Amino acid sequence: MKNIVILGAPGSGKGTISSFLVKNYSFQQISTGDLLREISNSTSELSSRIQAIISKGELVPDSIVAEMLEAKIIEFVQNGAKGLIFDGYPRTFAQTEMLDEIVAKQNLSITNVLELDISLKDLETRILNRYSCASCGEIYNYISKPTKINNICDKCGSHNLIKRNDDKKEVLEQRYKTYEQNIAKIKEYYSQRNLYQKIDATLTVQEIQNKVKDIIEL
Ligand code: AMP
Repeated sequence: MKNIVILGAPGSGKGTISSFLVKNYSFQQISTGDLLREISNSTSELSSRIQAIISKGELVPDSIVAEMLEAKIIEFVQNGAKGLIFDGYPRTFAQTEMLDEIVAKQNLSITNVLELDISLKDLETRILNRYSCASCGEIYNYISKPTKINNICDKCGSHNLIKRNDDKKEVLEQRYKTYEQNIAKIKEYYSQRNLYQKIDATLTVQEIQNKVKDIIEL
């Protein structure tokens, strides 16, 4: 079973690559950002705490994220998943080691680690124009991928198109800084295990997909 970690600053295209692998190769995607947003929109005790952390672009404590992640992995494994994609996890060195431990409990291991590499300047152009469908999650961009019909989701027809609360310049800069601070040790960990490959995130979606297919040998 192939279990792939996709690393990359916020907006580097992790979600797009994950969707491609899910749609074409039956992977199951685990996005810790999506899982945390789900909790933050609920009425649980934790929700306002998580909401505050996400809106500042900071990281949610490791213990909360690990518990949530493990539950999701168990769910997918029990449902016969063919492969897992970790989108947005790990984000710290502690999480990197934790991920190995969590997957090992299910007799799994990480098989590939891809990093989508992009500068802060390129990211700003991309993210500040990003929006998505609140109903089906499809991601759009005012410049590079607008909806075909104004304000209607191409995929599901919903009118509920939204911008994420944390897609703002100051928050983006904070999230990029957090990413840069943590990535070096994560990269080193996976490079030592011969799992790490860097991909230029400014290539076209098609080019990135081809590289991903080659690397993962699909
Ligand atoms: P994302 O959708 O992956 O950009 O995540 C959105 C926000 O959720 C991040 O800015 C963090 O506040 C939080 N988050 C997502 N994944 C993690 C993680 N692995 N560890 C801690 N916080 C996370």
